[in-house]
Amino acid sequence: MKQRSYIGLGSNLGDSLQILSDAVYKLTSLGDVRVSKLYHSAPMGPQDQPHFHNAVVELYTTLEPLQLLDQLQAFEQQAGRVRLRHWGERTLDLDLLLYADQEIEHERLKVPHAGIMLRDFVLIPLLDLAPDLTLKGQLLRDLPVVRNSELNVLADCPWIQEPTV
Ligand code: AMP
Repeated sequence: MKQRSYIGLGSNLGDSLQILSDAVYKLTSLGDVRVSKLYHSAPMGPQDQPHFHNAVVELYTTLEPLQLLDQLQAFEQQAGRVRLRHWGERTLDLDLLLYADQEIEHERLKVPHAGIMLRDFVLIPLLDLAPDLTLKGQLLRDLPVVRNSELNVLADCPWIQEPTV
């Protein structure tokens, strides 16, 4: 049975727009997708690195959560994933944010993703796709981190470029 999942995408190395476009294209091979707007966010860790491009994809898939994680990690590797330091720059980061309404505590996979409630660059694109979403009884759009966000929209939909893969 198909389940609804949400995947967070981030990139701040290389041609980030093309890298995220290619990642969305690959995600379409796993099921039906909808794509948020594209955002530009300041880095969380070291400040001497480029801003990130961020988006969220809604994916309906028959893959089980760990199979989906395997695919996300394979896509990261195929993008020539470079990760120079903790909280630092990376070519492509794919996070499984939500999977149906499951709570997963596995050594490789924690769902809902640990940072989801804290980060505007995750929450705002997620709310593009699911404006009424609640988590742990909390309406996400009412969180202060969302209300006070100054996240910049880089592009409204559609922003996907022709795939290079
Ligand atoms: P990062 O590169 O910071 O996204 O961390 C990747 C590591 O987080 C991998 O070892 C994953 O197995 C682990 N991980 C735990 N939960 C998740 C999740 N919900 N989505 C993606 N990776 C996860």
